[in-house]
Amino acid sequence: MKSIQIAIDGPSGAGKSTVAKALAQRLGIVYVDTGALYRTVGYAVRQANADPKDPEAVAALLPQLHLDLRYEADGTQQVYLNGEAMGNRIRTPEMSMYASAVSAIPAVRAFLLDTQREIAQRNSVIMDGRDIGTVILPKADVKIFLTASDECRAKRRWAELRQKGMETDYEEVLADMRQRDRQDREREIAPAVAAPDATVFDNSWMEPDACTNALLQLIEEKYGLGVAK
Ligand code: C5P
Repeated sequence: MKSIQIAIDGPSGAGKSTVAKALAQRLGIVYVDTGALYRTVGYAVRQANADPKDPEAVAALLPQLHLDLRYEADGTQQVYLNGEAMGNRIRTPEMSMYASAVSAIPAVRAFLLDTQREIAQRNSVIMDGRDIGTVILPKADVKIFLTASDECRAKRRWAELRQKGMETDYEEVLADMRQRDRQDREREIAPAVAAPDATVFDNSWMEPDACTNALLQLIEEKYGLGVAK
């Protein structure tokens, strides 16, 4: 198979990571979760007790951060910050908000740009984020903007947090999610919007397997037969 770049963007809780992971496995390509990089920068800012909305304070920390993406044998992505694996520490609701705040800072986006492009240059990838189709890989072979209703997305996020042992209130999850999405969509730099040539796919009430199969078909149609085995 020749190399392929697939961009999956969309708001939080749209099921991007679940579906992208399954697609990566089916296609035998690398899955890149770019949100984890922003979460890791958010984590470092929190550790330094800096204000995630202060562009100068955040930019001053960046030269001390060394981020590394590594893959475990089963294909699971792990982000290392200065040699330390981040694991689930970056998956809390607090880190979601830190990630969203730091991601609106141009210096942070510039800092993470090369890491993302380099991995796509070296491998066939399916990359999930907010600006993959618009900024990171504008020439991606297939661009998908995955979305679902606010309520469906909040229910998924709530269930996911619960599964990780974080008991949260559904209404709170919904409100936080709406605030984060608005912030991501309305920011000046790399707003989380669909690229003009992306296929918008709404998977409200769709099971992950059905969504994966539908997207696999879409990828075959866009990219040509023979992509999926
Ligand atoms: O995808 P995830 O929820 O892990 O992303 C956390 C935050 O990181 C998002 O709310 C968004 O602010 C930011 N992000 C981004 N661009 C990306 C991926 C994530 O701005 N490509």
